[in-house]
Amino acid sequence: MGNMVSCEEAIREVLENIPEFTIARKPVLDSLHYVLAENIISNDNIPVNDNSAMDGYAIILSDLAGADKTCPVTLKKSNYDIPAGEFTRFEAKKGFCIKIMTGAPVPRGCDCIVKKEDVEAREDKILFFKEHKYFENIRPQGEDIKKGETVFAKGRIIDPAVVGVLASLGIKDISVYNPPIIGIISTGNELADINDELFFGMVRDSNSYSLAAQVKESGASYIRYGIVRDNRFDLKEAVKKSIGECDLILISGGVSVGDYDYIKEILKESGAQEIFWGVKQKPGKPLAFYKSGDKLIFGLPGNPVSVMVCFELYVRPLIRKMMGYQELFRKAVIAKALGPFKHEAGRTEFVRVKIKKDEYGNYFAAVTGEQGSGILTSMAQADGIAQIDENKKEIIKGESLKVYLIKNDL
Ligand code: AMP
Ligand code: MG
Repeated sequence: MGNMVSCEEAIREVLENIPEFTIARKPVLDSLHYVLAENIISNDNIPVNDNSAMDGYAIILSDLAGADKTCPVTLKKSNYDIPAGEFTRFEAKKGFCIKIMTGAPVPRGCDCIVKKEDVEAREDKILFFKEHKYFENIRPQGEDIKKGETVFAKGRIIDPAVVGVLASLGIKDISVYNPPIIGIISTGNELADINDELFFGMVRDSNSYSLAAQVKESGASYIRYGIVRDNRFDLKEAVKKSIGECDLILISGGVSVGDYDYIKEILKESGAQEIFWGVKQKPGKPLAFYKSGDKLIFGLPGNPVSVMVCFELYVRPLIRKMMGYQELFRKAVIAKALGPFKHEAGRTEFVRVKIKKDEYGNYFAAVTGEQGSGILTSMAQADGIAQIDENKKEIIKGESLKVYLIKNDL
């Protein structure tokens, strides 16, 4: 690993190499977390007409002039009422009121709704005890969205509220940036499948599961190719198949310098171009990145923690960029170290940390136990990844650290 790149160079190379966006038409409900590739213009006013915000009585405002507790105004009640969804021919008439339900269209000429709770009904007479404001309790036509208005611009991320607004506009399909399909391959002769018994010498394949979950969380979709053994033929076949079916391929294991680490060799033989191999970081030193036509390939280190950390640092931002997101990285905060952190100068180190926040909004970071790159439970406990600069010798208690928050709900 002669020509190791720095973390900054690595992420720059990764993000520079994204293929052209493709656009797909998708049903609104299948587009959650995707990015809009068109402007959405409304064909309707929402609400489509003035409607009542309350159950009450539609009136002419000037009829209530002078009304107060001791001297109420009495209006005659119309024989009809207006339930939601019903059209009424009733037109406002001085001295009359009409019962109206929430959501029902306001009758022509009425300019105020008085809440049911604020009146007193005496047979066909209704008593009003105070003056009101013009258009009080009326939701005016186009209050939410005006016909012809650009409701959402290209680049907008589809979240549940966007789905709701699109539904309210009667928009069934939208153009989105086609999210990439991510291929996931686990390599290793020692690997046992989730259904297999764990015999002596075996390691269960966790990487293809944690990676699939990370892909899913990032909003893209994946194809798992399961476990591929460390032999040239099987590896070649799997690489070929995945390049044919996916936009980005994640291969875990087999990129280090062991005798059976064939991945680099095979990718080279298949015509893929090495962008870099080896990053000055811990964990995840043997990270490799390749390009094959417009397909991208990561050779990820096999260690379960390294795989997940490399995904966070390099794969997730790439997927987000491929999906059309502007914001590529996790939110980072400055946190104070709750104890000393061990660190050897020479490589950027990423430490799994548990984050605490005090009442003033200050963040604190504690190491999640053993930091060996095979200890996956330390990843499960972590809600952040602290970055220690390669030039640092050590981190003392109380020192400030940059921490990426990796759990969505922090
Ligand atoms: P490698 O990079 O292939 O040398 O693997 C490094 C370490 O990660 C070895 O201890 C492997 O057993 C382990 N490992 C590799 N692939 C996986 C996997 N899919 N799931 C869990 N552990 C793995
Ligand atoms: Mg291996």
